[in-house]
Amino acid sequence: MRRSHSAPDMESFRSILKSKGLKATPQRLAVHEAMLSLGHACADMVCEQIRKSGNACVTVASVYNILSGLSTIGIYRRIPTIDNRVWYDVLTRPHLHIYDRKRNEIKDLSDEDFASVATAYFKEHSPKGYKVDEIDIQLVCHRSRNSKKL
Ligand SMILES: [Zn+2]
Repeated sequence: MRRSHSAPDMESFRSILKSKGLKATPQRLAVHEAMLSLGHACADMVCEQIRKSGNACVTVASVYNILSGLSTIGIYRRIPTIDNRVWYDVLTRPHLHIYDRKRNEIKDLSDEDFASVATAYFKEHSPKGYKVDEIDIQLVCHRSRNSKKL
């Protein structure tokens, strides 16, 4: 069982695969290496990154299957976006995201205060008949003219 919610390095990735009875195929290794460098990505972005690195030959369909399978066993986290594309995140602990629709990129929003306020609020105010397991908040944004800091 993984204790850390940070992205596993290549060595840890191999041991996680082994512990789950999965082989460290060149395709899986290439996908993980691409995910480590991208952080947040869709299957086509991972495929493009692998193609650029020249490490392995992997089709978009295989990349999609690998990402989906690895997220099922908790290595990546799925991030649904409003445009219905599924993104994957190497950081699996709950955290907030900024989704820039114009640039088509997702970044982590480091605002632990807001995350704990939201968690505390929904602990007290769960929707009737539901228990909140996790809070997934995504800010859909575009860059303002004056922002060069992000
Ligand atoms: Zn993230």
